[in-house]
Amino acid sequence: MSTSEASQKDEILIQGVPASPGVAMGQAFVYTKKLPEVETDRIGKHLVSDEVTAFHSARAKLRSEWKKLLEKEEDSQSQAIISAQIEIIGDPDLASQIEEFIKDKQHRAQHAIMKAFKQYIDRLADSGTAVLADRLIDLSDIRDQLVEAIGSERPLLASKNGDILVAAEISPREVIQLSHQNIKGFVMEQGGSTSHAAIIARSVGIPAVVGAKGIMEKIEEEATICLDGQLGLVSLHPSAHTRKRVKERRARETHTLEEQLKICSKRSATKDGNPFVLRANVEFVEELDNVRQFNAEGVGLLRTESVYLNHEQFGSTKKQAAFYDKVLTRTDSAPVVIRLFDVGGDKFQAVKVTENNPFLGWRGIRMLLDERDILREQLRAVLITSGKHLGRVKLLVPMVGNLKEIRALKQEIQNCREQLLEEGYEVDDDIALGIMVEIPSVAIQAEHFAGEVDFFSIGTNDLTQYILAVDRGNALISKLYNQAHPAMWNLINYITDVAEENNIPVDVCGELAAHPAAAACLLGLGVSSLSMSPINIPSVKQLLLDCTRHDLQRLATDVLASKDVDEINAVFSNWKDRLQ
Ligand code: PEP
Ligand code: MG
Repeated sequence: MSTSEASQKDEILIQGVPASPGVAMGQAFVYTKKLPEVETDRIGKHLVSDEVTAFHSARAKLRSEWKKLLEKEEDSQSQAIISAQIEIIGDPDLASQIEEFIKDKQHRAQHAIMKAFKQYIDRLADSGTAVLADRLIDLSDIRDQLVEAIGSERPLLASKNGDILVAAEISPREVIQLSHQNIKGFVMEQGGSTSHAAIIARSVGIPAVVGAKGIMEKIEEEATICLDGQLGLVSLHPSAHTRKRVKERRARETHTLEEQLKICSKRSATKDGNPFVLRANVEFVEELDNVRQFNAEGVGLLRTESVYLNHEQFGSTKKQAAFYDKVLTRTDSAPVVIRLFDVGGDKFQAVKVTENNPFLGWRGIRMLLDERDILREQLRAVLITSGKHLGRVKLLVPMVGNLKEIRALKQEIQNCREQLLEEGYEVDDDIALGIMVEIPSVAIQAEHFAGEVDFFSIGTNDLTQYILAVDRGNALISKLYNQAHPAMWNLINYITDVAEENNIPVDVCGELAAHPAAAACLLGLGVSSLSMSPINIPSVKQLLLDCTRHDLQRLATDVLASKDVDEINAVFSNWKDRLQ
C-alpha cells in the first residue's frame, strides 16, 4: 500500500465470519455479479418446443462442462462439491418444474428457470437455518449458469496475481476457478462458515472471510485490504499498526500443511501433561478427510440436516443409516456424536408454514416431537448404526427447552430400541444421550437437566443469539453478535460447575471453541472437550500445547472478571503475549 493512501484514509475494520485460516494483504479486486436479465413476456404455443429444447441443451452443455472440471480437479473436497453441483443440474424434479413452466405457462426457458429456482430457493430460505441458507449461493449460481448458457457468453472471473477478491457472493465454481489463479484471499459479504465457498477455500488453502457485512458499500477497486481468516477480521486501508501486526502474524503462522500435521500428530496434552480433547464438527462426508488428517478425536457434532438437503425430504432410515455408517467407518474407533435434525419442518408439509421468527420457532426437538414419523425414522437409523459400531455412537438433541421433551424422547428411544431388537437388529444398549445447551432457560436451570442426561454440549452459536437478543444472521446488528461476551462466559462457568457437581462432561461445539484463546479459556473453565471445524484444530492445538493448566485457569479467572467485550479482548491478547 502506498504511504499516501495510508495517510489519507482512515482504517475501516469489519468483523466477518472466519472461513479459511491465514492472513493476507493486497489490492482489492471487486467482483460484482449481476442477476441475468430475462424476458418475461409469454411466448406463442408454436415456440414452446424450441424453448424446451433450448433448456435441455443448456443443461446438457453445463453438465458436460462441470464433468470436465471434475476430471481435472484433484482436490477431494472440491471434487465432492462439484459432484453435488452436477447432481443439482441433473435434478429431474427441477427439470420437470422448468418444463412445466414453459409448457403450461408459456414462459421462455430463461424465465422458467428463474421461476423454478425461485420457488426452490424460497423454500430453503424460509427454513430459518443458517446451514440451509448457505446453500442458496450454490443454487443461485447454477440458476445463473443455466440462464447464461441459453443466452450469451458467461462473464469470466479474472483477477490479477496477488489480488484479494471482494464480492457479495462467490460460488463454489468461482472459488475453484480462483484457486487456479494466484489470488491471496477472498472476502465475501454473505454466507457463513459452512457455505460451500468456505469449505472449498479451506480445502484449497485460500485465506477467506465470509459474512463481512457492509463490505461492498465500503470497498473501492484496488484499495489496500487485509484479512485474517482465523479471526474473520477484514481491514480496509489498514493502519501502520495493523500492517505490522499482519506481517508479524504471517511470520508466526503455521502456513504449511506439513507444519499443521506435525502439530496435530502430537499428543493432546498441555505443557504440564494434562490431556485435552479436540473433536470435529462435520456435516458432509467430504469433510471426513480433514477429520483424519488433523487427527480429531472423533466427531463432536455430526449435523444431520444435509440428509434433508440432499434429498429434499428426510431420507429413509436406510439412506440415513448409510450416511452415519460412512462417518463412523471413516473415523476409526473414535466416538461420533450424532445430532438429531435441527431444521424447521415446513418443507415436508403439504401446506407451507410461515414463521415470523424461525430461529425462535418450530425447529429441532420441538418439531421432531410433533412429527413422530420423522423422529422414529431417524432414531431407527441412529440405533441401527450404533449396533454396527458398538460403544461409539452418542446421541445429541438440539433445541431442548424443557424436561418433558427429554422424557418424551427417552420413551421414543426405548420404543424404537425394543422394536429393532424384535426385528433382529443389534443395538448398543448404552448410547450416551446429551442435550445441546443453547436455550438460556436450560443453561440457567442446568442442575435440573444434568440428572436426566449423560452429557451437555454447549451450542454457543445459538446460545449467544438468545442471550444477547441478537439474531445470528442479521447483518444490521452483526457487530453486537459476539460469542465471547461476558454474559456468555459467566453462563458457561455456571454450566461447567453444575456439570462437575453432577459428574457429567460438558462439550462445546459452537464456533467459540474454534478460536484458540477462547478454546483455552473454555478448558480453563472445566469444559471436557471442544468440537470445531477440523481445519481449526491445528491453531487451537498449537496454542493449547504451549499452556500449562495454570495458564488456562488464570485466563478463565481474568475473563470472568471482565465486564465487557473490550476487556475480554484485552485479557486475551495480554495473556497470549505473556505466554510467548
Ligand atoms: C450452536 O448453536 O452452537 C450449534 C453448534 O448448532 P448450529 O450452529 O447447528 O445451530
Ligand atoms: Mg444450534
